[in-house]
Amino acid sequence: MTTAAIIVAAGRGLRAGGDLPKQWQMLAGKPVLAHTLAAFAATPGIDRLLLVIHPDDAARAAALAPLAQLVPGGASRDASVMNALLVLKGTDTTRVLIHDGARPLVTPALITRMIDALGAHPAAAPALPVTDALWRGDAGQVAGTQNRSGLFRAQTPQAFHFPAILHAHQNHPGNAADDVEVARAAGIPVTIIDGDEDNLKLTYPADFARAERIISERSMDIRLGNGFDVHAFTPGDHVWLCGVKVPHTAALLGHSDADVGMHALTDAIYGALAAGDIGQHFPPSDPQWKGAASHIFLRHAIKLAAARGFKLANADVTLICERPKIGPHALAMRQALASIMGVEVDRVSVKATTSERLGFTGREEGIAAIATATLVSL
Ligand code: MG
Repeated sequence: MTTAAIIVAAGRGLRAGGDLPKQWQMLAGKPVLAHTLAAFAATPGIDRLLLVIHPDDAARAAALAPLAQLVPGGASRDASVMNALLVLKGTDTTRVLIHDGARPLVTPALITRMIDALGAHPAAAPALPVTDALWRGDAGQVAGTQNRSGLFRAQTPQAFHFPAILHAHQNHPGNAADDVEVARAAGIPVTIIDGDEDNLKLTYPADFARAERIISERSMDIRLGNGFDVHAFTPGDHVWLCGVKVPHTAALLGHSDADVGMHALTDAIYGALAAGDIGQHFPPSDPQWKGAASHIFLRHAIKLAAARGFKLANADVTLICERPKIGPHALAMRQALASIMGVEVDRVSVKATTSERLGFTGREEGIAAIATATLVSL
């Protein structure tokens, strides 16, 4: 089995605006066609890649796609596809996928579904059922409704056994909307395969904005950080833990309010940002932070994350102590931390453990805390 992909990109369509045909315009930092080519190049099972271009674009195409075989386009889409099919004639190609260059969000997963479909069918095409109500319109008025059952929105890549689609194109009179129409005219049954909602065809300027949003979702940045803190007990009658005042037979010693849990969490967020630690942002040597409420530190870390394009996905704080008992206060602590950070409570966990009476926490000399925070790009 040798599978070729033909990417049709010879059109001069300027409805998308700009000076260049849409397939050469920039999308998320590179030409539209670069995205399309990358998807096919990343798909196992594509043995040969043909790029059909307008002759005027030969130089930029050669620079963009050194591994693709360039084919000059014809006067119509049919003629362009035909030129590419003729290049494949006489090679060992058994299957061919034909794709619009202006669908840059095609994924290797969809391309693979189409290759797989050819194992069982002579032809297959991706499509999505129409779910919106359909109307006919006339002069800005609704002129009637249209039954949508059995209607599909067609996409590419459309996939064919090679000899059959070559023969079908050679016998078609021309002006087909797509290769499925050509195949059906030759009596080839075409199987519908689930398409991909994001596999949009760039036509208008607004399509570029939507495509940019999809690309930025796909390239979501995820950062993980950890924090650790310890504060010693000192005489007193309460401790501050994760923003909650908890009665106790001792207090925690520290320059600020010594909220060991909130400090560990704040450091976890700084850690995820690779932005140092609390001590760097709020030096203990600076008297203005003496006795400061720790929510100032946590709020600063979250604001810094937002300024760098991140939000908190979740946080998990573990307090390590024999006493006080944390369980009765855990929900209030989660609520306090969530409120400071401006996130839902179910994104924030506070739990506790003892150290089995071992070590400084076991001897009740102080409390330790560890925290993990996940940040995701906005
Ligand atoms: Mg501390």
